[in-house]
Amino acid sequence: MLLSVVVPCYNEEESIPLLVERLLAAVAPWAGQTEVILIDDGSTDGTWAALEAAHARHPQVRGLKLSANRGHQIALTAGLAAAEGQRIFMLDADLQDPPEILPEMMGLMDAGYDVVYGKRAERQGETLFKKASAWAFYRFLNALSDVKIPKDTGDFRLVSRRALDSVLQMPERSRFVRGMFAWVGFRQIGVEYQREARAAGETKYPLKAMLKLATDALTGFSIKPLRFATRLSFCTLGISGLVAVYVFHSLVMYQTAPGWASMLLAMSFFSGIQLLTLGIMGEYIGRLYMEMKQRPLFFVDQQTDGYQSESFDDI
Ligand code: UDP
Ligand code: MG
Repeated sequence: MLLSVVVPCYNEEESIPLLVERLLAAVAPWAGQTEVILIDDGSTDGTWAALEAAHARHPQVRGLKLSANRGHQIALTAGLAAAEGQRIFMLDADLQDPPEILPEMMGLMDAGYDVVYGKRAERQGETLFKKASAWAFYRFLNALSDVKIPKDTGDFRLVSRRALDSVLQMPERSRFVRGMFAWVGFRQIGVEYQREARAAGETKYPLKAMLKLATDALTGFSIKPLRFATRLSFCTLGISGLVAVYVFHSLVMYQTAPGWASMLLAMSFFSGIQLLTLGIMGEYIGRLYMEMKQRPLFFVDQQTDGYQSESFDDI
């Protein structure tokens, strides 16, 4: 198998027929050596029926149904674990990532690159809030993280077998796949593309899911927020020093100290800071607990053929 295409699908019944047509056209030069793995991430619509129909029409298209909705990054991981190709191409089901860019990515891989990621030159059909938050997020993440995670990229990429095997050796439960590929190293390069509007349906990333992805990314790739508490303590000690000087000064000059208002302000300020740092610590401790449980990332419910994928833990 030369090429595996991996697509996580959550409630994407409307996009799938078009997705399959455009994908098969894009992989035509490598047809016969290509498998397309579509993961149904516990959809509640007709996604699974659409995958079965696609498999019936094109046997190289395989559907894999997870036992429940596990989220984009886990669904993608399930597909990556099942992929058998020497090169693995991953994209979203909604055709926001054009499959037609594949030949260009294949060319770069022929030239020796291990990871060829799509870089969003422009985003269409997305809200100003989404664009602005994504812009700020990638810059904030890079400021905190020691790994350089390419800005304005999603999980749209072509990777080599050895890059994928490296990522599959990383056992963490909360997964930020694009960051993990950046972390493994090897030779990497970006290809610019226009991010189109969704082919059908609406985004499966509400604000809550975006925030979860962002905290997974931040905590997974940086422990600097923990040091933030130490830095903050120096700042607040500095501020209380200044307040002490002020109080001493007014005692000497006016024989009176400022009253309860300033006390209340200081108390609420410092308790706010304490709770904030406690919350940051709690976030990491909670993640330690989740990692420690070592639960399997996903379970496969059904597959469109007798094809046996290995479960993630067997790899
Ligand atoms: N997705 C998934 N599980 C989820 C949410 C999303 O597999 O719980 C898939 C979705 O079907 C799509 C990809 O992840 O293929 C990206 O989601 P979406 O296009 O909604 O995100 P956006 O492009 O709006 O950031
Ligand atoms: Mg999308």
